[in-house]
Amino acid sequence: MVDRRGLLIILSSPSGAGKSTLAKRLMAWDSDLEFSISATTRAPRPGEEHGRDYFFLSEDAFKQQVADGQMLEHAHVFGNFYGSPADPVRNSINTGKDVLFDVDWQGEVQIRNSDLGKHALSIFILPPSIPELRRRLETRGQDSDDVIGRRMLKSWDEISHWGYYDYVLINDDLESTEEKLKTIVSAERMRRIQQPTLQQHVRKLQNEFEGLS
Ligand code: ADP
Ligand code: 5GP
Repeated sequence: MVDRRGLLIILSSPSGAGKSTLAKRLMAWDSDLEFSISATTRAPRPGEEHGRDYFFLSEDAFKQQVADGQMLEHAHVFGNFYGSPADPVRNSINTGKDVLFDVDWQGEVQIRNSDLGKHALSIFILPPSIPELRRRLETRGQDSDDVIGRRMLKSWDEISHWGYYDYVLINDDLESTEEKLKTIVSAERMRRIQQPTLQQHVRKLQNEFEGLS
C-alpha cells in the first residue's frame, strides 16, 4: 500500500491574478505533482500543443466523453466547453501523487461534490487590486485590448465565488505567495485521510503496547 493518497489541488482565480505562474512554480518545486490536462472545445492558441496544454476536442467528441462519464467535472467557460478527464486523476492519487487543476469555480464545486471530493484542496488567488489585475493582463502581452476587456468583465463573476474555497491568497508579492502555497500543500499532505497506512502503524503500536503488559 502507498504511504500517501494524493490531493486534488485546485487553483482558481480571475484571469491575470497569477494562477498559471504559481501553478508552474508549484510544479517545478515538486516533480511528483501531476498537472491535470483539461479537454476543451476552444481552438489552440499559437504555441499550444494537443496533449500538453489541453486535449483539443470537437464539440461532439467532448459531449461523448461527458456522456460516457469520462469527465470528473465539466463546464462552459467563455463560450467553450472545458473538462477534466477522470481516469488520470484517479490513477495519480491512488499512487500517492497530487494532481494540480487549473479550473474555474464551477470545476471546483463539481470536484468537491464528486466521490474524490474528500481529497480536494482548493485555493483561490485574488489580485491585490483591480487596476493591478488589468496591468498584469496588459504586461502579459498575450491578449488584444478587446480580449482584456472581456477578461476584466468576467473577473468579477470569478472573484464572487471566492467563498467556496478552502484557502484564499492575495497575490501581491509573488515570492511570498509562492511560499504560502507550498506551506499549504505541505500541511495538507499530512491530513489523516491522505495517509492510508496510518491505521497499520497504529495497529503496530498497539501490538507493541500490548506486548509490554
Ligand atoms: P493567470 O494564469 O491567473 O491568468 P498569469 O500567471 O498569466 O495569470 O499572470 C499574469 C501576469 O502577471 C504575468 O505576466 C505574470 O508574470 C504576472 N504576475 C503574476 N503574479 C504576479 C505578482 N505577484 N506580481 C506581479 N506580477 C505578477
Ligand atoms: P483558457 O481558455 O484561458 O485556457 O481558460 C479559460 C478558463 O477556463 C480559465 O478560467 C480556466 O481556469 C478554465 N478552465 C480550464 N480548464 C478547465 C476545466 O477542465 N474545467 C473547468 N471547469 N474550467 C477550466
